Formats: sequence, C-alpha cells, structure tokens
Amino acid sequence: MNRRNFIRTSTLLTGATAGVSNIFQSSESKLKSDTSFKVAFITDIHVKTDEISQTGMRKALKHVNSLRNKPSFIINGGDSIMDALAANKTETQSQWDVWNKIMEEENKLQVYHCIGNHDVWGWQVKDESIKSDPLYDKNWVISNHKMPARYYSFEKNNWLFIVLDSTQENEGGYIARFDEEQFTWLEKELASAPKDKFICIVSHIPIISFCSAMFFDDMLPNGDWKLSRVLLHVDARRIKNLFKAYPNIKVCLSGHIHLQDEVNYLGIKYLCNGAISGKWWKGSFQDFPPAYALLDFHNDGTIDREMICYDLPLNAK
Ligand SMILES: [Zn+2]
Repeated sequence: MNRRNFIRTSTLLTGATAGVSNIFQSSESKLKSDTSFKVAFITDIHVKTDEISQTGMRKALKHVNSLRNKPSFIINGGDSIMDALAANKTETQSQWDVWNKIMEEENKLQVYHCIGNHDVWGWQVKDESIKSDPLYDKNWVISNHKMPARYYSFEKNNWLFIVLDSTQENEGGYIARFDEEQFTWLEKELASAPKDKFICIVSHIPIISFCSAMFFDDMLPNGDWKLSRVLLHVDARRIKNLFKAYPNIKVCLSGHIHLQDEVNYLGIKYLCNGAISGKWWKGSFQDFPPAYALLDFHNDGTIDREMICYDLPLNAK
C-alpha cells in the first residue's frame, strides 16, 4: 500500500478528517509504550511482630512480585516498621528482624528506600543514654536498608529520582521539612541535573497534598482546618519556589497519610499513595483499603498511576 492510499484508508477506517495526524498519533503512542518502565511504590507497611501485619506484608510483596509486567524496581516510601521512635533497642531489633526476613523470602526486586518518621530510632525514648548508641536516630534505618545516605538520587532511563528525608527532630517529636544541609544539597542536585532528564521527587511526608487536611475527622473549634506540622511539609512554599525553576520536575511521590490523592500544582503531579497497612492493619483507613501504587514512567515525561488493592489480610476488619 502506498502512502496516499494508506492515509485514505486510515481516514476511512477512523472516520477522522485528518489521516496524517492519526498516523503521527499512533507512532507517538507506540514510542511512549515502548520506552516506559514500571515502578511499584509501596509505603507505610508498619510491620511488627504480630501475625496480621506479617501476613499482610507477605501478601503485598507476593502481589508486586507476581505482576505479569514486572516493575523495574520498588520504591519503599517509608514507615517500614510499626515504630522505632518510642521503642527500646530489643523492640526495634525485633521489628527490623521481621522486616528483613519477609523481604528476603518474598521479594526479588531491587528496592530503593525512603526514611519514614516511624523508622527513626529513639527520639521519644526517655533513656538519654541511647543517644550515644551508634544506631541512634536515622543510623539504624540507613544501615538496615543499606541506603547510600539519608537522601540520595539515582537514574533510570531518562528519569532522575531524588529520594529525600522529610523527618526532622522537633522538641521530642518531629516536624515535616528539609533541614538546611539537605535543602542546599537538593538545590545543587537540581542545578546539576541533566536538562534532558525528567525528575521524580520522593519524600515520606507529602510536600503538597489535599489528603493531609482530610487526615483528622474533625475541624478546630473555630472552624479552621486541623492541619498538623507532621502531616504536610511546613517548607512547602520554599520547595515550590525552588521547583518552579525546573520544569523537568514532573512528579512528587509520598506516603505517610494512609490516604490517596493526586494534586496537580504548577505543572507538577503530587501523588500521595495510600498505605500497605491501610488503617495500621485494622482494615481501610477512611475511604482507602490497603493498597500500593503501580506507576508507568514514560519517555515523554508523563506518568500514569494505578492504585492496586492487593487484598486484605486474614482476620483484618
Ligand atoms: Zn509516616
């Protein structure tokens, strides 16, 4: 078939008036599908030594690992274990033991880890002596996950992934922001990023999200939204202003809230991705059952997300 006949035929077949643009569209979508890769974003597993959370974590990892179109890798959004902030050394060790055992037995995919607030050891432990323990603070989670540092970057095809650390100490608790050292590193990382790469930012706590405001059921007595410094980055405006200089930043991924949303703001897609543990292993949290995100990263800088409910664990409400 010559080109003119092909155009005529395709025009007739589609009923469209512009056969040429149909040809270009189909070759574009072929390019898009040929060059995309998949990533499973699992977050807020909160595994502990009980049976429900262990069964659930196994089920989720089995599900990710049995996908027909295998993800290139997993991003773990953090809060891997139920809690190390207020746990003693033995309790923290037993949670990491459970995590490591299940990861070893059920997962074959490469995992890039992000630190969650509950992965940090000891900030709420009364015993002052643990501050001199080499595992104190974020050292335990970094060494357990074999992370290169508490924040880092890596590349896949024409995408650059920047994994950040949202959790900073704040009067015995924590606050969601990037410390100065990290912010300076982020500025340099973005400035030196190749201009032909698209960028995905990963943080445990959302930088911009609506579901942070939906976390609590009620409002403040005066009718204001109840929006805590631990639920949304308090430095969101500063980060937004930095990001404005980089149109190749396309998506920001987070967990922490156990709810799901998609906020498009100034050309960036902010995706909050639910929780593997749902309502901390007690079924759904508000409207969202336990789930993970399956993401397609395309060569043209677009991304698609599908939320996958991998099924509730046995005995969960
Ligand atoms: Zn969290």
